[in-house]
Amino acid sequence: MKRVGILALQGDFDAHAKAVERAGGAPTLVRSAGDLEGLDGLIIPGGESTTMLKLLHEENLMEPLRNFGRLRPIFGTCAGAILLANEVSSPAQESLGLIDIGVERNGYGRQIDSRVTSVTPERDFTSRTQPGDMEAVFIRAPIIRRVGDRAKVLARYQGDPVLVEEGRHIVATFHPELSPDRRVHELFLQKLD
Ligand code: GLN
Repeated sequence: MKRVGILALQGDFDAHAKAVERAGGAPTLVRSAGDLEGLDGLIIPGGESTTMLKLLHEENLMEPLRNFGRLRPIFGTCAGAILLANEVSSPAQESLGLIDIGVERNGYGRQIDSRVTSVTPERDFTSRTQPGDMEAVFIRAPIIRRVGDRAKVLARYQGDPVLVEEGRHIVATFHPELSPDRRVHELFLQKLD
């Protein structure tokens, strides 16, 4: 069984741990650099990216996470996507810079402060999972404004990318851990083989 770390400094790490179990993986909560040892992949949950950044510095986790991401897959949701992006705006802030996308924080504004909707996966996603629309929970989500040449958009909402894969990493601006649909976590687990 694949061992999936869930960064557990702040945010909805508990929901991810349950989603990893539903998808057939073994979750482990990560609170220090030593906890990364032996993991096959890592999830950075949603929450508040500025607070998480502060805690990452306090726990001396920035470099260990960058090094982990150079070797193993990381899946970032919402605040986690902001932390993985190499370009953050509104306002600009430091990030791990592991995936070549540009994100605008709280990009949907009040329009979807919090919304349960449905998104249509692209072929690159459904070729590896079951077809069909996917429930998507957005909570003060960032908008992905730019994707690098090597990135694959796996789902869009209102034309903007909301699920993107680049090499070993995946980001979602919505919260797949809050919906019963297991496909996104299953896709991440497949990348750990
Ligand atoms: N708006 C938050 C941020 O900028 C992200 C919200 C979330 O993770 N649900 O960090």
